Amino acid sequence: MIYHKTDEEIELIRKSCLLVSKTLAHVASILKPGITGTKIDQEAEQFIRDHGAIPGFKGYHDFPATLCVSKNETVVHGIPDGKEFVDTDIVSVDCGVYWNEFYGDAAYSFAFKGVGEEVIKLMEVTKECLHKGIEKAVVGNRIGDISYAVQSLAEKEHSYGVVRELVGHGIGKKLHEAPEVPNYGTRGRGPKIQEGLVIAIEPMINLGTKRVTQGDDGWTIRTRDRKQSAHYEHTVAVTAEGPDILSDHSYVEDVIKNSEYLSEIR
Ligand code: MG
Ligand code: MG
Repeated sequence: MIYHKTDEEIELIRKSCLLVSKTLAHVASILKPGITGTKIDQEAEQFIRDHGAIPGFKGYHDFPATLCVSKNETVVHGIPDGKEFVDTDIVSVDCGVYWNEFYGDAAYSFAFKGVGEEVIKLMEVTKECLHKGIEKAVVGNRIGDISYAVQSLAEKEHSYGVVRELVGHGIGKKLHEAPEVPNYGTRGRGPKIQEGLVIAIEPMINLGTKRVTQGDDGWTIRTRDRKQSAHYEHTVAVTAEGPDILSDHSYVEDVIKNSEYLSEIR
């Protein structure tokens, strides 16, 4: 059952999403080779709590951290650890907060300066997939229209692998609500998109095979061929005027512009 949100509820979700966006920007400001996943996770948790909110992922199905930190061949759900980042890493940072009874959810994949062109291209296309999907989040369309837009850009135009096992989702008082928002599918299929729908759209796109494996920790999802994977996510509300992106990557991108360690992803 899909729960459509009121305008007031959408504003509360926006508030949670804005804090997620600023938390990701704080992470960007400290990301450099030599820092660890554990350190950025601690910083993010402190940042969220300092704003009076609660980390949305910590304790969710017993997930042990504030951030999902997914490096290189890790697609999503990486548990932050004490290994130092190196100059050739890409790292997806996924963050959720719970505030005023509503969740916000967004993710950004970062590239250190030593990352090569082929992988930067993967990241740029994944971000473009996110925005192609968002464009289809309009009243009268169906979820499959979003899915198709993401899949066709990634698979048909670029021959990348689109992960099947993990999907975007409705979001509100629960972190994961109906409907599921797959990154593959058929135009005109799936639930109808109506005003008040709030969904997290999150393409997970692999350089090589679409196939993934789950780690022994029960969380970490990796590409089967161990090639890189990228992930970008926004929480989006559907309004009569069109899609309203509640999270905001501009905070992160303003930091990256001035970073001596991170490459811009266009
Ligand atoms: Mg997320
Ligand atoms: Mg999500």
